[in-house]
Amino acid sequence: MSNLKEIIDLITGKVSKKEEELLDKAYKFAENAHKDQKRMDGSPYFTHVLETAKILAKLGMDTPTIIAGLLHDVLEDTQITEEEMRKEFGDDIVFLVNGVTKLGTLKYRGHERHVESLRKFFVAMTNDLRVVIIKFADRLHNLRTLQSLKEEKRKRIAMESIEVYAPLANRLGMGKLKGEIEDAAFPFAYPKEYKEVEDMLKDSKDMYQEYLKEVHEELIKELKKNKVKFVEINYRTKHKYSLWKKLLRHDMDLEKIDDIVALRVIVENIEECYRVLGIIHSIWRPLPGRIKDYIAVPKPNGYRSIHTTIFTGLGGTAEIQIRTQEMHNEAAYGIAAHFAYKEGTGKKNSQSESEKFKWIEELKNFNYELDDPKKYLEHLKTDFFNDRIFIFTPKGDVVDLPEGSSPIDFAYSIHSDLGNHISGVKVNNKIAPILSTLKNGDIVEIVTKKDSHPSSKWLEHVKTNMAKKNIRSYLEKNSLISKLKSFGRS
Ligand code: MN
Repeated sequence: MSNLKEIIDLITGKVSKKEEELLDKAYKFAENAHKDQKRMDGSPYFTHVLETAKILAKLGMDTPTIIAGLLHDVLEDTQITEEEMRKEFGDDIVFLVNGVTKLGTLKYRGHERHVESLRKFFVAMTNDLRVVIIKFADRLHNLRTLQSLKEEKRKRIAMESIEVYAPLANRLGMGKLKGEIEDAAFPFAYPKEYKEVEDMLKDSKDMYQEYLKEVHEELIKELKKNKVKFVEINYRTKHKYSLWKKLLRHDMDLEKIDDIVALRVIVENIEECYRVLGIIHSIWRPLPGRIKDYIAVPKPNGYRSIHTTIFTGLGGTAEIQIRTQEMHNEAAYGIAAHFAYKEGTGKKNSQSESEKFKWIEELKNFNYELDDPKKYLEHLKTDFFNDRIFIFTPKGDVVDLPEGSSPIDFAYSIHSDLGNHISGVKVNNKIAPILSTLKNGDIVEIVTKKDSHPSSKWLEHVKTNMAKKNIRSYLEKNSLISKLKSFGRS
């Protein structure tokens, strides 16, 4: 076996012999495919795909996803063909890798319209959120190695991560990943502000740690006294980017932020959550208005927990979050927590195909029950799919169009001149009829000629009002001109 152990060790569930063999095969396949390539920082290219796979393993993703992580740059960056990959690894893996490759052609251009389209596109196009999660892992590793890129590119990637990737991770409930993406991008997207936050924290960090230690010890003592079985108590420091966002809303005054550090109490069940809340409030006085019951009323992205902020008695305040293990996993991994693990047992579900893809089915069948925290996903899905398709320019800009649109619609949505002179089109690099129907995710290149003009026949084939309006106006003008011309001749 190769250094595959690096990945295997991160998988908390049981890895079958067959899965291990497949992982090993993918490891060697990728290592060989990238063997002559180097990253900008001079390290072997393979490091990048290995790290991507490791992030996926840490997220608790299933084996095909980890394998696709290892192979995610093979089709784009090496001589290996889709057919060779299909022969070795099957349709599922090729589907995932193709999805990731396609997402890679997206480029952030700083326009709000594009940002929204990009976010929608991510979900709409893939139809399989594993693709998005692989892309997240890929991006996270790229962010961590951003240092070696040129300033301009660094900034673009960092901004794109904050504007597109992080909010999407958040919508999918992947809080941990969202925080990691933002913090990796923050210093490159906003260097000045990052430094400011760093400096502010430098002075007060020790003080907060001190508070926390005291509260932590006291709390453990009380919970034991009351015979509360807690799984663990830990604490986290607020991610720097989200701290900065919060500071902006609070006059840049660190004193006004009371969750810079937070204690987390993880217990066995929901009843215990409320018991712990009672115990905490009997020791420390809570800040009025800061008790939030996200168990009874989950956040729109499904987040559940009880929050309270207490006066520590040491001249400060501290936030305490109370939740079950299941809530804790979901808060960190969101949609990914629904993958291969059964909550609480720490073991993998049986890996039957139907089990493995159940969550995708669930996503398709969610109902609108108001008290269902997952209803947000249904909303997200209907909102995102909404009979729209997303089409790329060869440069990676995205245009969203109604389903059934043609290349003519696409051309007019970019510029009326492009529509008025369209003579041909390439869809995914192949010549196609201009009256064909586009599919979600197509890359479309319009070819124009000076003497090409709209025909009335087009009107039956276009979907957008923009195209119809432009074609009609051209035809009217043109028929007027030809009438005038024929007048002139007679
Ligand atoms: Mn990559």
